[in-house]
Amino acid sequence: MALQAHSPEDLKRMLERIDGRGYPAYRDLEGEYRFPTFVLTVEHVQSDPFAPPSRFRIDIPLQTTGIPEELYADPVRRTAVEDFILRTAAQNLRGWRQKRGSGKSGLIEILEPTQVVLPRSAVEIGAKALTVRFVVGLPARGRTVLGRQAAEMLLEDIPSWVESSFFWKAMNHQKAREHVALAVDQDALRRWMSAEGLVAFVGDGSILPRESGQSDLPLRQGAIPFQSPPSLRREVRLPSGRMVAGMAVPKGITLICGGGYHGKSTLLRALEQGVYNHIAGDGREWVLTDPTAVKIRAEDGRWVRGVNISPFINNLPYGKSTRRFTTESASGATSQAANIMEAVEMGARVLLIDEDTSATNFMIRDARMQALVAKEHEPITPFIDRARQLLEEWGVSTVLVVGGAGDYLDIADRVIAMESYIPKDVTGEARRIMERMPSNRKAETAGPLPEKPARVIRGLGHRPKPGEKWKVEAKDLHLILYGRERVLLHAVEQLAEMGQTRAIAACLRLLSERADGRKNLAELVRELFREVESRGFSAWSGSRGCPGTYALPRPYEVAAAVNRLEGLQIKEE
Ligand code: ADP
Ligand code: MG
Repeated sequence: MALQAHSPEDLKRMLERIDGRGYPAYRDLEGEYRFPTFVLTVEHVQSDPFAPPSRFRIDIPLQTTGIPEELYADPVRRTAVEDFILRTAAQNLRGWRQKRGSGKSGLIEILEPTQVVLPRSAVEIGAKALTVRFVVGLPARGRTVLGRQAAEMLLEDIPSWVESSFFWKAMNHQKAREHVALAVDQDALRRWMSAEGLVAFVGDGSILPRESGQSDLPLRQGAIPFQSPPSLRREVRLPSGRMVAGMAVPKGITLICGGGYHGKSTLLRALEQGVYNHIAGDGREWVLTDPTAVKIRAEDGRWVRGVNISPFINNLPYGKSTRRFTTESASGATSQAANIMEAVEMGARVLLIDEDTSATNFMIRDARMQALVAKEHEPITPFIDRARQLLEEWGVSTVLVVGGAGDYLDIADRVIAMESYIPKDVTGEARRIMERMPSNRKAETAGPLPEKPARVIRGLGHRPKPGEKWKVEAKDLHLILYGRERVLLHAVEQLAEMGQTRAIAACLRLLSERADGRKNLAELVRELFREVESRGFSAWSGSRGCPGTYALPRPYEVAAAVNRLEGLQIKEE
């Protein structure tokens, strides 16, 4: 990389010089170019027109952008305005691609955000500058440099895109301010929830169902807007002055019951995603969940490494230990137990569970089964007998969808019934039924919970030898390649966009170097988040510069990937 900055004229001359030469001649472009209002950095040039496109970066001094300081004065506003700018910039590129030769020639592309508002590496506001990261397909005919087309792209198209996307004078001021005001209100609502001891809030009028299993857009036709039951309805005035009313779910054990197809799972899925802020028009702008909430499900077949699942599973056949439980293929119940213990280890204070995706024997053992199979022969202490302790001893609340297991009424603090997509508070009715029809099951609690888990990590498995080329790479939203190993994240349901998976892959690479048997997993992950907060995404990227394709995951999902590694090594106590 060139140390001294060049001028746009230098760039023009370079492109004239390499015109008609072989593609590798583009390598000469790597370096910095000072345009009148921004600095363009060519960070990495692709090896040929068909390879992943070249990585570019733009830096604009914050004052030069003209963006009012109050729009990025704190992390909440900053993330919102970054998100707004990225959406504008992506919009301005949409449908714009000009084919300028072979392969990816002519491509200019920036990350496409989803419905959630997240910090992303594509647009970052740092202490002094706005940084934009995107990719460019440097044009070629066959494998021959097309210098004139490249000059058009780099000296005309990119500068005009930059002018129309990253300067306040070109932005829609009202929309920008509304985008930030929404995030500020969402943040205020979250703070209010935390002060009031609430774990979830679902605003009246919210549209929870999605267009389809493949689309995160709101269902357009026939969606019944959410309407809170009067007994759980709360109303708040937010900083913008708007009033928001909705269903407030307090800490404790909350059941969502109701007939099949009445919208239970849809409500729970909205709560799962409520750990993120959504953009206006999503329908879930006012569905907010405690940010530490983790979806828990059965995941048979997963790897488990040294997890203490003894609160739920004990006395396995042939004395297999469950205090440091390890397996290459967990059962439904053991996987669900491990998922809970791992979430708690990372600090989860709310568990979100759907009967649809749970192991029945993990959730419940009814009176007849208790009579038939003596406790001595049943390794499982079902969740129903631990949920109250999780709350009282560890401060962990549960929101649980149940359609079938009526015994759960015994342990619920409140019961919400979904009826044709409208929730009713049926807590009183549930109490009367419990009195009339006792479940007759015996609680199977086996002593207090152990200490909260905190496993010290010795290593993540594969350690590259010096000079060895190995990749850690996100393949799709729910799959990471870690060297040759496939890290399956299909059951990690709170990943919202692939940029998060890419960032998790980057975290795995860093953790593979750092895990040395001294720190526990939560500490290691917290350290990573402190770094990204203070230094931005370049803290997580390797020596080849930061790609513009990262989005911030949560610590829970980073840990979930670590926990699914085949070679994860836990220090013996
Ligand atoms: P359950 O878990 O109670 O069986 P689901 O949540 O899976 O039900 O919902 C069943 C169907 O109803 C889904 O296709 C879902 O998209 C749709 N649905 C859910 N909530 C609403 C709503 N508020 N308005 C319209 N359709 C909805
Ligand atoms: Mg369901």
